[in-house]
Amino acid sequence: MGEDPSSPCHYMKTIYLDNAATTRVKPEILAELPEVIGECFGNPSSVHSEGRKARKIIEDSRRSISELLCCKPQEIYFTSGGSESDTWALYASAHSLKQNKHTLITSQTEHKAVLSCASRLEKEGFNVIYLPVDNNGVVSVESLYNALNEDVFLVSIMSANNETGVMQDIPALSKAAHEIGAMFHTDAVQGIYDIKYNLAESDIDMLSLSAHKLHGLKGCGALYIKQGVILPSLIYGGAQEQGRRAGTENFPGIFSLGYACRIIMRDRDAIIAKKQKLTQLFEEEISSQIKDITINSASVRRAAGISNISFHGVDGEALMLNLDLRGVCASTGSACLSGSVDPSHVLMAMGIEKTTAIGSVRFSFSDDNTQEETLIAVDIIRDTVNKLRNMHHRQTLEEFRHVGIPENIRRS
Ligand SMILES: *Cc1c(COP(=O)(O)O)cnc(C)c1O
Repeated sequence: MGEDPSSPCHYMKTIYLDNAATTRVKPEILAELPEVIGECFGNPSSVHSEGRKARKIIEDSRRSISELLCCKPQEIYFTSGGSESDTWALYASAHSLKQNKHTLITSQTEHKAVLSCASRLEKEGFNVIYLPVDNNGVVSVESLYNALNEDVFLVSIMSANNETGVMQDIPALSKAAHEIGAMFHTDAVQGIYDIKYNLAESDIDMLSLSAHKLHGLKGCGALYIKQGVILPSLIYGGAQEQGRRAGTENFPGIFSLGYACRIIMRDRDAIIAKKQKLTQLFEEEISSQIKDITINSASVRRAAGISNISFHGVDGEALMLNLDLRGVCASTGSACLSGSVDPSHVLMAMGIEKTTAIGSVRFSFSDDNTQEETLIAVDIIRDTVNKLRNMHHRQTLEEFRHVGIPENIRRS
């Protein structure tokens, strides 16, 4: 838990409300890892018994993921994480179809893995349409219909947003893409708990997953690729993953992803109920104890556990750093670029004013969190917001360097 002073991770007892950034590995997964790592060291591509042991772990995991998503095991391809899965889906489909189609449609609020890849494709001469969102962060199906044309090779829209939790109407959006012959990809990294995918009967051609957002290990993810979809390799080498993704498999990561999917199948309702209860309690308490706040996207369907709050008149980065000093871990969606803070692209796309966007902090819960720590966090947030608002001048990051925030907690 990080409370053991001899542990290398000892810092202080923290209240971890940053589960959209990453999650703690579930103890039941952790308990199996020494054996997985220590006993199954064989190369899964080797035909001998040691290789077969490792191979079994991989195929069991693939089967668990396919059961969760209602697809075939051979439609699941392991990758190094959500970023690689997104890049593979966008970049490789653009290049496989560039002879006849040149337009990609995505949205303004996608994860950077999608947006950076889209901007790279633009530099290469592809045409990219970034669909706008409404004030709640929702992409309208009508706007997709209006943007679609015969030149579109792929539509990529995330299932649930990592900053606000906002969920998109994936069935309708994917249907629209298929009607005109475009493929459909969704970044489902934040949508896995809340959405019961039935990929066999959906219009989704590709779907990205990441293990560490589901209490598994970092550095492992998967891309679902519907049977029949042509998608060239991104990584070349051996014949792993049916010849489509080379490299000796990260089987501890793969094991953790399969295990995480089995936990979701087993406990999904309880996990969602707990996250919803904590988020609701948190938002009620914040609303009643702190003036001049806005809960972003409060009126639309959100993934359970993500709460994005604008504290008017407060600098979000300063709030986040002050909360960290008191042991509450949260994050802002802003990027700190060479000393000046760039507001979150997601909140800006929702039409939120720049100063308000800069005053926004994301709190994200998992089923590891408790009601007790949620209430303590609210107390700390209230006191910190009051303190910051009472200051005569806005605390800049520069001043924080004075009070000695360790280098490593600043965002780069
Ligand atoms: C975290 C995240 C990613 C990136 O996944 P990694 O496994 O960290 O590469 C992509 N999309 C969304 C929505 C995410 O939250």
